[in-house]
Amino acid sequence: MAQAPEGIPRDLARERAGQVSEVRYGLSFVLTPGASNVSGEVEIRFNLSRTGPLLLDYREGRVGSVQINGAATPVVVENGHLELFPGSLRRGENVVRIQFVSPVATAGTPITRFEDRDDDSEYIYTLFVPMDASMAFPCFDQPDLKARFKLDVTAPESWTVISNAPEESATDASPQQRRTVFEETRPISTYLFAFAAGPFRKLEGGPGMPAAYARQSVVERATPEVARLERVTARGMDYFADYFAQPFPFPKYDTVLIPGLAYGGMEHAGATFLREESVLFRTAPTNTDLLRRDILVLHELAHQWFGDLVTMRWFDDLWLKEGFAQYMAFHALDSFEPGEDLWKRFYESIKPAAYAIDSTAGTTPIYQDIPNLQDAKSAYGAIVYSKAPGVLKQLAFVLGAEQFRDGLRLYLKEHAYANAEWADLVRAFESVSRQSLRNWAEMWIRRRGMPQVDVAWSCEGDHLTHLSLSQRDALGTRDVWPMATQVVLDYANDNPVRIRVGLNGRTMDVREAAGKLCPRFVFANDQDYAYGRFLLDARSREEVMSRMGSMPDLFRRTLLWGSLWESVRESQLDPRAYIELAAKLLPGESDEALARSILARVAGALHRYVSDETRRRLVPGFETLAAKQMMESPDLNLRIVWFRALQGLAETPAGLRQLKDLLSGQMAVPDVELRALDRWNMVTALVAMGDPEAAAAFNAELQGDPSGDGQKYAYAAEAARPHPETKQKYFQEYLRTDSHPEDWIEQSLFSFNSWNQSELTASYLKQALEALPQIKSDRKIFFLGNWLDAFIYGQQSSAAQAEVHRYLDTARVDRDLRLKILEAVDELDRTVVIRHKFPD
Ligand SMILES: [Zn+2]
Repeated sequence: MAQAPEGIPRDLARERAGQVSEVRYGLSFVLTPGASNVSGEVEIRFNLSRTGPLLLDYREGRVGSVQINGAATPVVVENGHLELFPGSLRRGENVVRIQFVSPVATAGTPITRFEDRDDDSEYIYTLFVPMDASMAFPCFDQPDLKARFKLDVTAPESWTVISNAPEESATDASPQQRRTVFEETRPISTYLFAFAAGPFRKLEGGPGMPAAYARQSVVERATPEVARLERVTARGMDYFADYFAQPFPFPKYDTVLIPGLAYGGMEHAGATFLREESVLFRTAPTNTDLLRRDILVLHELAHQWFGDLVTMRWFDDLWLKEGFAQYMAFHALDSFEPGEDLWKRFYESIKPAAYAIDSTAGTTPIYQDIPNLQDAKSAYGAIVYSKAPGVLKQLAFVLGAEQFRDGLRLYLKEHAYANAEWADLVRAFESVSRQSLRNWAEMWIRRRGMPQVDVAWSCEGDHLTHLSLSQRDALGTRDVWPMATQVVLDYANDNPVRIRVGLNGRTMDVREAAGKLCPRFVFANDQDYAYGRFLLDARSREEVMSRMGSMPDLFRRTLLWGSLWESVRESQLDPRAYIELAAKLLPGESDEALARSILARVAGALHRYVSDETRRRLVPGFETLAAKQMMESPDLNLRIVWFRALQGLAETPAGLRQLKDLLSGQMAVPDVELRALDRWNMVTALVAMGDPEAAAAFNAELQGDPSGDGQKYAYAAEAARPHPETKQKYFQEYLRTDSHPEDWIEQSLFSFNSWNQSELTASYLKQALEALPQIKSDRKIFFLGNWLDAFIYGQQSSAAQAEVHRYLDTARVDRDLRLKILEAVDELDRTVVIRHKFPD
């Protein structure tokens, strides 16, 4: 037999999928509190269509006895695989039994231990996506070898075990131990198999409602929050079953809150895990936070159909499940919260993030070529989570709502409990709509990058004589995207005129517009149906900037603020003009989400795009405004938004005084009960700014909040200390997976790289880049992106920019890491250009 390959190459997966079928796993685990491993046994039944060399995947663990078809057999363990001896396999059914011991740790392993410092209890949970099931037990770890799993877990008797299927029985195994046996699952992929164990408490949502589980120490806090979660889940289940014309695909559905989970949520079939912090807010929540949590809940729920019932064949089609889950989450919530302007929120929460990546040299197509599953982690990011749903919204606009829905129904019906590829979905849409989507799919799915769409128009007297749209690739290639958009003509005293335009070539003369009354301004992506950079022409921009304050349509106002910000990032508009417009209009802005995004851009511009002198001149005005709005705004949500803005912007003694008064209780935001992380964020801000009373505030907070969370936040706050020894100590800990739980480190990366400490952290930039290969292999999916963003965004200078580009030019980094660096350095490149173009 040839040498076993590293990782799981696509060729190996294809060959196995042609050879192996009817897979069933019988799995037993024994969980021991405090142990650094779990022992287990797996019985794998499968059919072989032909005999020959066969690899199972298993890495990091230890293999004990192996039996193939009843006979003890030696196996070769190499490069994360077990080579099964071909002579002991036969055509038809085979049974392989393996005893194994797999590692458990608080970080760096797919079976993770959480130590609850609040009550000294312990929890163990799994997280296998994309290919880590094979770090927990021997298996065929590829999404298109779906299998039925029959699990039993032996654990302390006070523990509750939750898995994909309903519990079949629970019996005493030995003194103080209980064995929980689960029913066999329907066919699911290995990455969707999971269990969680520990002193969880079940929070009933009422008769017929799906249940949620939380760790015992947070039950009191969880109970009121979980009621809304369960309500949204129940409504979502009905909505999706109806929309997809497919009943809920699994026998039960539970939600398990996992503290410190590496993602917001993970859609294990029948048992979604949600990051506890995403549900039980650590800061005082606004209405937007609550709606975002609803979206998270619905996203994971939509996956039960899109991802779990029908699964991508390989992770190059990751976008299929993520794009749809995100798009469908908004679709569902819009149906039961029609007053919440969900499509405006869709724009706010996904489009700017997508455009920010998609206009960089590091961007990738939605479809990402993944020759080996060990590179699949890199496929996760804004392209998949933000561009893909944005492109699907555009597709629904192109096809029409009904045909879009019918295409989805057909696709889910044809591939239920099996696997499919994007081409299957395109075929389903083509078959219901009877139109060719070949070019559409080629450009939006296969090619990378995005269009910039420009408008040109002119009037004679009172009437429009000409309006045309033209597109070009934001990255400078000659690509042309097929698209449909809605252009709006705005008038002072008349209703706006909306025109639907199909733009399939480089330019399009909008004949329908000629003869209409001359508008005040034109915007070419009204209602955000299209995907791309839509800047305002010079005349429209001037008009929009002078009339933004009296623009009643909130969705349009949001899009125009977004478009102006794109102009700043494209260095067409002076960042000071944006900041000044914000200073003028923010006091009158009544929409919480829009105010929040404008304030975030203002903070970014002040900390990155303008000189220190300009910042020092402008910040006191914002501090005063924030303090006033935080106390006086009639809207609770706005008071919270302004309070957060003050934390982010305060730097003068007067501004920092306000934070100290809030911490000490001398001052309070009316009707807002600050939560633990609100307080720690203020402490972190004081530490980062080197406030003379920061150490006292830190110590007082640590004493007042001895909880497990408190220790995590204290760790993050201390990373902000502007001292060389602190930075050195932290950086060394970052490189060791055994130093702290992964979410502690992630929580601290941005305070380590505080915007005002770039001189102190500059020397770590190169080391942070050099650590990338290690981070890629040791850390969970989103860690690497956060790492790069934190270290690169901590810098604003051309020297730091040169450092990153020098690294790209000289170091040997794989293509995938190179793209990630190009993606992250784009913001620094823009910063340098903007600072150069708009000096004081
Ligand atoms: Zn997802």
